[in-house]
Amino acid sequence: EQNVNNIKQEYMKLFQFENKLLPFTWIVIRIDGSHFHRFSEVHGFEKPNDEQALKLMNSSAVAVLEEFKDIVFAYGVSDEYSFILKRNTQLYQRRPSEMVSAIVSFFSSTYVMNWKEYFPKKELKFPPNFDGRGVCYPSYEIIRDYLAWRQVDCHINNQYNTCFWMLVKSGKTTKEAQSLLKGTQTQEKNQMLLNLFNIDYKTLPIIFRNGSSVFWDKEMMLTDNGVITKSYKKVVVEHPNIIEDCFWETHPLILQ
Ligand code: ATP
Ligand code: ATP
Ligand code: MG
Ligand code: MG
Ligand code: MG
Ligand code: MG
Repeated sequence: EQNVNNIKQEYMKLFQFENKLLPFTWIVIRIDGSHFHRFSEVHGFEKPNDEQALKLMNSSAVAVLEEFKDIVFAYGVSDEYSFILKRNTQLYQRRPSEMVSAIVSFFSSTYVMNWKEYFPKKELKFPPNFDGRGVCYPSYEIIRDYLAWRQVDCHINNQYNTCFWMLVKSGKTTKEAQSLLKGTQTQEKNQMLLNLFNIDYKTLPIIFRNGSSVFWDKEMMLTDNGVITKSYKKVVVEHPNIIEDCFWETHPLILQ
């Protein structure tokens, strides 16, 4: 018979593999809603874009940035959010399982807590869950490429979904809408929106076209003796183009 009092902590810890993310690289924790196609249907999200649902995602991301101070930037679209941690973060000694699980569970519980504020008339029918992963990006160029990749994805999906749902709302079956859109290029989709529905894609709300960027707004303050100090005032949500250089040139401290 085994004497449980003799089980040593060091022995049990031998089985725990200590995985750590590469030092001095940007860590991206990307979370994504599980089965949100169904979740959005059950909760009657507006198609293709429910603005309140996006704002609920954004409010949860703001709470994450306020809680985990090493996060320097976050980008969200649809049911996903990418959180970028500063290069030298020591959060959980850079162990990915703890970093991912802490952030994804904080995001999920905030989403549930804030639900009523964004959907006062809708009951939350079942608890949503999100999955998460942690990936290292070793250079400035590559982390910029990562963010560009997500925003390009936002553009492509939003354009397709806008066309798809306009066709469906105009009476086409989902099959018909799919086959009409199959193989079409960006230009063709824009033409379709303009010709059939009189929609100029460029005029759709920017939150749908660009997704949401969340970061600390650094406020410049001039003190009595003329010295400029920077203070972290509050977390803001904006919808800039993060593919081109302009945003990054005007916010050089985010990815330093
Ligand atoms: P998985 O579990 O593999 O992530 P999923 O059903 O969540 O599957 P995604 O590829 O993550 O699939 O896509 C998310 C889906 O959630 C979208 O296709 C869309 O149907 C729905 N969705 C998410 N956010 C919104 C929103 N703001 N408005 C309308 N629909 C949304
Ligand atoms: P960490 O973030 O490192 O996990 P922690 O404060 O959560 O720090 P734990 O070692 O996980 O520390 O211990 C959990 C603590 O939570 C306990 O020490 C106890 O104070 C408190 N706690 C948890 N569950 C209960 C409970 N059911 N009743 C009373 N106290 C509890
Ligand atoms: Mg997934
Ligand atoms: Mg999903
Ligand atoms: Mg998704
Ligand atoms: Mg604990």
